[in-house]
Amino acid sequence: MCKFCGNRTHAPAELAGGSGKITAVPANMPAGIGDADRLTLIRGGAVLSMDSMVGNFAKGDVLIRGAKIVEVAASIDASEAAVIDASGTVVMPGFIDTHHHQFETALRSLLADAILINDGRPESAVNYYEWMLQKFSVLYRPQDVYISELFGGLSQIDAGVTTVMDVSQIHHSPEHSDAAIAALRNAGRRAAFGYFEGWGDAAKYPGDARRIKTEHFASDDQLLTMVMGGEIYLPFHEEAWALGRELAIPIALHVVGTFGMQPVFDQLAEAGTFGPDNIFIHMTGMSDMAWKRVAEAGAHVSLSVPVEMQMRHGNPPLQQALDLGLQPSLSTDVECTMTADMFTQMRSAITLQRMLANDKALRGEDYPKLLSAIDVIRFATIEGARGLKLDHKTGTLTPGKEADVILLDANAINVAPLNHVPGSVVTLMERSNVSTVLCAGKVRKWRGVLLGHDVAKLRSDLELSRDYLLNAAGIRPDLF
Ligand SMILES: [Zn+2]
Repeated sequence: MCKFCGNRTHAPAELAGGSGKITAVPANMPAGIGDADRLTLIRGGAVLSMDSMVGNFAKGDVLIRGAKIVEVAASIDASEAAVIDASGTVVMPGFIDTHHHQFETALRSLLADAILINDGRPESAVNYYEWMLQKFSVLYRPQDVYISELFGGLSQIDAGVTTVMDVSQIHHSPEHSDAAIAALRNAGRRAAFGYFEGWGDAAKYPGDARRIKTEHFASDDQLLTMVMGGEIYLPFHEEAWALGRELAIPIALHVVGTFGMQPVFDQLAEAGTFGPDNIFIHMTGMSDMAWKRVAEAGAHVSLSVPVEMQMRHGNPPLQQALDLGLQPSLSTDVECTMTADMFTQMRSAITLQRMLANDKALRGEDYPKLLSAIDVIRFATIEGARGLKLDHKTGTLTPGKEADVILLDANAINVAPLNHVPGSVVTLMERSNVSTVLCAGKVRKWRGVLLGHDVAKLRSDLELSRDYLLNAAGIRPDLF
């Protein structure tokens, strides 16, 4: 029995069993896909592998054995395989979101018009820092963590996001951390659990990282990995960074000029503390010197372009990263303000970069190379895998990697006729085009339907959690 949701089985791995409300194996879905040694052939799609050694195929096949990709080719003979007909679809690696505060799912769009901080204007009285981090996050109970994490994760599977790094600042006790991990696990996709701060007497951050690593992340042979949160605006960041390095896990942190972080970040840059294990989120308003050190250290940069523009983090430093030869990943950040699908991310990144470059061109100035559709798909797949140190497992359709594969409907009314695969994905598609989703070979969405969870029940749990949070914060619901 799960102590967070009362579910007996946590059905994603056992699709056929349990409650009648959980979507059973659909009649037209071959049985056994993803089981050990079971062969599955994804046949006849437009295959965008994102691996230049593998190549792309206008019409191609992807062969999977159990959790792993074994072959990608124009045509594969595998008569004993379960067949997924991919005709009319784009077959590509699942999207990777390198920074998502999933704990905020219950508070979706609550701060749609808000900026990060209170800048003294009346309309900024409702702002992210004072509301989400000071008012709401401290109220979370383990069951609130669980339901928001699970619902947000399933919603992203529905949108073709097969890997996430969760950044939830609600580690108020070991039970809160365990609830987050249980939900990430039960969603059934790949996730890097970001161990960030919590508040109150029972909070054990950062020291509980050792227990968490031993208890939940001892094995590399699982969908979950661990990332250490190391926020430099908090007093114990040196201890957190040291712990991350002791445990040999990546260290992630927000780097945001709006919060006055530039001097501290400069100090760390000058002290030579950056490494390839660092994941720097946003990187708005930082000095040229610090940027250079980031590039020299081989650190990773995660950009949340639409949220940075909406919430005043500072201008997304996409061009700055590219000019230094850095390849950023994209991240959705907060659903209290912006949607968490990667189509929105890719379109925001490409239009922003081109707007700035096109403006220079129109003014007769030298201008940087324009991003193309394939570039932003790269940011949304393999670059995210590299950033999370998961590129040996995911991010491309490469034999030997795990089968995190999505099928996107190219026959849909908003896409047909298919004339350019990367262009269609970036400039035409959205989450409704995500037809089928496999995470490590297991089918999590089949022909438009999310499998393995009673979504109506989860939604009502989420609404109850939302009601508790609003009530405890003394906020009266106001839909308009
Ligand atoms: Zn964030």
